[in-house]
Amino acid sequence: MTQRFVIIGTGVAGIAAAQAIRQQLPQASITLIGDEPDLYYSRPGLAYYLTKELPESSLFPIRRSALQKLNIGIVHGRAAQIDPDAHRIQLANGQNLPYDRLLIATGASAALPKLPGTELEGVVKLDNLADTRHIIKLARKTRTAVVIGGGITALEIVEGLAARKIAVHYLLRRDRYWSSVLEDEESRVIETRLREEGVQIHYHTQATQITEKRGRVAGVLMQDGRQIPCQMVAIAVGIRPRLELAAAIGLRMERGILVNEFLQTSQPDIYAAGDVAQVFDPLTGYYNMDSLWGPARQQGYIAGLNMAGGQSPYQKLAPFNVTRLAGLTTTIIGAVGNGQDDDLVGIARGDSETWRQLPAAIAAQKGFDINRMRVMVGSQFLIGAIVMGDQTLSLPLQHLIAEKADITAIRDDLLNPQANLSETLLDFWTSWRNDYATQ
Ligand SMILES: Cc1cc2nc3c(=O)[nH]c(=O)nc-3n(C[C@H](O)[C@H](O)[C@H](O)COP(=O)(O)OP(=O)(O)OC[C@H]3O[C@@H](n4cnc5c(N)ncnc54)[C@H](O)[C@@H]3O)c2cc1C
Repeated sequence: MTQRFVIIGTGVAGIAAAQAIRQQLPQASITLIGDEPDLYYSRPGLAYYLTKELPESSLFPIRRSALQKLNIGIVHGRAAQIDPDAHRIQLANGQNLPYDRLLIATGASAALPKLPGTELEGVVKLDNLADTRHIIKLARKTRTAVVIGGGITALEIVEGLAARKIAVHYLLRRDRYWSSVLEDEESRVIETRLREEGVQIHYHTQATQITEKRGRVAGVLMQDGRQIPCQMVAIAVGIRPRLELAAAIGLRMERGILVNEFLQTSQPDIYAAGDVAQVFDPLTGYYNMDSLWGPARQQGYIAGLNMAGGQSPYQKLAPFNVTRLAGLTTTIIGAVGNGQDDDLVGIARGDSETWRQLPAAIAAQKGFDINRMRVMVGSQFLIGAIVMGDQTLSLPLQHLIAEKADITAIRDDLLNPQANLSETLLDFWTSWRNDYATQ
């Protein structure tokens, strides 16, 4: 009987897996291995800690004592090697742990660009709580900072530093922000708001070197020869799944560890979930990567159920994120993409590969001042949406897209530029929800 469960990684995927196993098997031995002293906390919350909107104490959804009450063992250390034949894990400190079933939930780390100077004191990234504390500490003696990268994390750092009264220079390689997901006007809304916060945006700009003075950051040199003197450089060009453990034992992988819909790797006793996993979607036949809190939790939970003997497939929903971009609440759902973004080397934090897909759909748009909405209209279903500012339609759209509501009856109205898009969607939502509830 399978009784010894080991989970590498104490992020949301690892914790959800431990909880699922414990629900199924009250007596099983469950051990979490984690290399962060802070154990489990809200990573999306780090941005709000950086802007001073949340205190550090509010970042912890579950305390260590709650896990101990569930009789879940916690080993603080780094898993260094897996021996799949002997079913053992070796920790960096030499300790050995046997397992019957193993979950790899090691998440991802910030990718670093090939840029001389990234090793200097004063170069920061935003992966974890320790990074956030480090940025806050450095911010006290920083007057000017340069931020390099695209997507949500780069913007979160820009805003966090601006909130700390630091003069921020934000470098963009091309002519606008996050071009793989946002449309031109959406990028402009964000950029205008950043400028209002005092952020200086540099377009068509590429850093070629971080310069130094006595081992510390002194400035950023750009390809046109200009130099921005600064004391801090923040890098958020994307993330790389932590694949070393899986690679060393030859698990099948592409951009992440390939897992089937049961979250099982190419070794039947080893599972993977969260940012490190590239998960098979039986509906599309593709393996996808997300870096989103909700999917990581759901994958961890399903992996735990299956490790404990279940046969639950992971059903990928239209990935969504309700986030803030330059202070503007923004919901991104499903496929809304526009292709490439030179500011990112791959997937970024709080991002989904699905969003970048250019859907076979037509966009219906509404834009007033800061409140904007773009809905991707397929032949029978809504495929994706971006809602910026007023969030009245955020939840309805999440449901209509996730549940694949048949929009045939309103399709022409959605695509008619004269029609009122919000009213059409709200009316449809009200009647669809009533029908749905009575089914
Ligand atoms: C700043 C920031 C903002 C974000 N914003 C959003 C957002 O707005 N919306 C959203 O949905 N998502 C957001 N995310 C992404 C979301 O937090 C991640 O998708 C989610 O945390 C992934 O969970 P995970 O359990 O797979 O990995 P992680 O949370 O990264 O946990 C993995 C853990 O494993 C540990 N580990 C790695 N290797 C080893 C080893 N060999 N031995 C022991 N331990 C190891 C790591 O140190 C880490 O503690 C954000 C993330 C960050 C950092």
